[in-house]
Amino acid sequence: EAQAPLLELVGARAAYGAIPALHGVDLTVPAGSVVALLGPNGGGKSTTLKVCAGLMPLTGGELRLAGRRVNGLSAQDAARLGVCSIPEGRGVFPNLTVRENLWITTGTGVDLKKIEEIAYARFPILGNRRDQLAGSMSGGEQQMLALSRALATDPAVLLLDELSMGLAPMIVSQMYETVAELVAGGLSVLVAEQFARVVLPIADIAALMLHGRIVATGRPDEIEGRLSSEYLGG
Ligand code: ATP
Repeated sequence: EAQAPLLELVGARAAYGAIPALHGVDLTVPAGSVVALLGPNGGGKSTTLKVCAGLMPLTGGELRLAGRRVNGLSAQDAARLGVCSIPEGRGVFPNLTVRENLWITTGTGVDLKKIEEIAYARFPILGNRRDQLAGSMSGGEQQMLALSRALATDPAVLLLDELSMGLAPMIVSQMYETVAELVAGGLSVLVAEQFARVVLPIADIAALMLHGRIVATGRPDEIEGRLSSEYLGG
């Protein structure tokens, strides 16, 4: 029997007040895979991630985790079920130090020393800056911190929104290399990116989203052609 997808949206609808933003989104994140959600600004990528993270209710359709319908779950429920997100803008606390940011993430009964060790092993620069205020670091360093915080909760699915935003191309590829390593270790990732080229190399599945709908899903090489004509502008 095939394993149920880790995370799944079936005909998902969501709205901001009276204004619909998702018009029936079907999206599947199989275990151990990277799904890239692509498309222009305003297409509904962030809204899709918010729905998956329990940050926004569905107005129709279903959200499923490991095959179970979980419509209406809170963000805490989602986190407890292993869904972890880095919000657009990274969500680090600028007036706390690196290590305070790592400490504040975690629930009770966790080994804070261990969490720091893991973070500094993955990103040595964070270790060098452990007592520095997060807000004084570069965008790339803050993104490393955000990723380390997210991973401290040992999630099953990581939701990433515009990881590349405001970062130098070299930092972006470094971040995605780290993501690829984590996926090799069993993590699943749903990543929204406006700039498809940076994420396609590590994606297993690409989905193109326009006007609150997924208009194409497939292997990255199948979707790339649609991107150049419909979205990347030829
Ligand atoms: P972006 O990269 O800009 O976040 P996106 O593809 O993630 O784009 P969404 O942010 O999900 O798109 O937006 C989908 C639709 O919902 C857009 O029409 C947008 O204007 C609308 N929308 C997004 N956030 C809000 C909000 N807080 N209140 C009202 N409408 C919103």
